[in-house]
Amino acid sequence: MWIRGGKLFDGEGFKESDLAVSQDRIRKVGDQETPPLGTRVIDAGGRYVGPAFVDLHTHSRTPGKDGSETADTLVRAAALGGYCFMVAMANTDPVVDSVDLYKDLTRSFARYSVEVLQAASVTKRREGNELVDMVSLHEAGAVFFSDDGDVISDARLMKKALEYSRRLGVIVAEHAQDERLSYGGVMNEGEISSELGVSGIPEDAESVVVARDLELNRVVKGNLHLMHLSSLGSIELLRHARSAGIPFSSEVTPHHLLLNDSELREFNTNYKVNPPLRSEQTRRALLRAFRADLFDVVGTDHAPHARHLKERSIREAPFGLIGLQSAFSATISALVDSEEGDMGNTEVDTSFIEESLALIFRKMAVAPQRILESVTGVKAKVPAYVVVDPSSKSSLQESDLVSMSKNSPYIGRELRGSVASLVIGENVLVDEGRLVEEGIINAR
Ligand SMILES: [Zn+2]
Repeated sequence: MWIRGGKLFDGEGFKESDLAVSQDRIRKVGDQETPPLGTRVIDAGGRYVGPAFVDLHTHSRTPGKDGSETADTLVRAAALGGYCFMVAMANTDPVVDSVDLYKDLTRSFARYSVEVLQAASVTKRREGNELVDMVSLHEAGAVFFSDDGDVISDARLMKKALEYSRRLGVIVAEHAQDERLSYGGVMNEGEISSELGVSGIPEDAESVVVARDLELNRVVKGNLHLMHLSSLGSIELLRHARSAGIPFSSEVTPHHLLLNDSELREFNTNYKVNPPLRSEQTRRALLRAFRADLFDVVGTDHAPHARHLKERSIREAPFGLIGLQSAFSATISALVDSEEGDMGNTEVDTSFIEESLALIFRKMAVAPQRILESVTGVKAKVPAYVVVDPSSKSSLQESDLVSMSKNSPYIGRELRGSVASLVIGENVLVDEGRLVEEGIINAR
């Protein structure tokens, strides 16, 4: 297969080059070469080509019972978003805390071209009282452990989990949020929550746990991954930890980079997410920190919820929004269009767009892959490429969403950027923005 006519990401910037893709190899193609007979040609026509995206933070909802997502709908949403690989969280029903369930899920995901790496929980039933058998789970193949959805409250258990992470070469990912400080909160604690009379989740509910975990890992030197960071305090703590040489990796979500808590004014529950959308001041600080390389990866925190659950009141509806399909658009829109109240009404110059796009390829593809591989030795089985257009603008319609759940905050909102093609090994999953059904199931 050839990907033709695109500007190829070379780790720093972009150069015009064609790519020849075979099952497990990729090479650049010289100007004079013509494709051998029978080669499938993907026309990248002036668009941008780079490594397909990797998400360390997806909620598959498999197994589960609320009809919010299936493996089939999940991988289709991921493919349309340009993802070739994702880590599925363990807060399923039942929780993934046993070798048997871990193996069952791993087997059932293996049929898809999009790779799904199943995470295991850190504590049994995610109750925070007792560690899972990390050694047996690791022997069965588990390399990513998280109680995401909930914090690991007990510092002693967290320290032990970090010790295992170093010994076994696995990642322990934390949903940093103090349970007492966030208790009963529905949205960000600030001016807007006061105005609306809704109870808030303060930023320090996150940063106190970030501080604790970094301090534990200063001592332990395990493989700590801090998920979906969203506070000014966390930014300061990461800066300090990095200069002090404390090991950690960190994640920010597209929605925390693009949206702020004023969206909650209409009580639209698709903006109810945990950690909550923050103030405009914090959003801008997160965006600056992202540009300054402080966060290692963009994670979607794709969290589907069935319509009947999100149709409850703002107080009762569950936290979470879907994000796989829109992650690229949301992130490039945040980087290019959301500065200082300028929402993209003026022409943006190409070099600024290319700079932003290079950052996206580093944070959504290169770094998550590198972190996973350097800690655990796990990497994507075959090379995968995505073709994107960073300049087109469109507004997302509910009918565009292929997730079983439709709880996207971007419905009806104009965003920049689209995913044109996704190629995983020899499977074409997306071509000209449309799903290619034959590519979804792995033919190998
Ligand atoms: Zn979380």
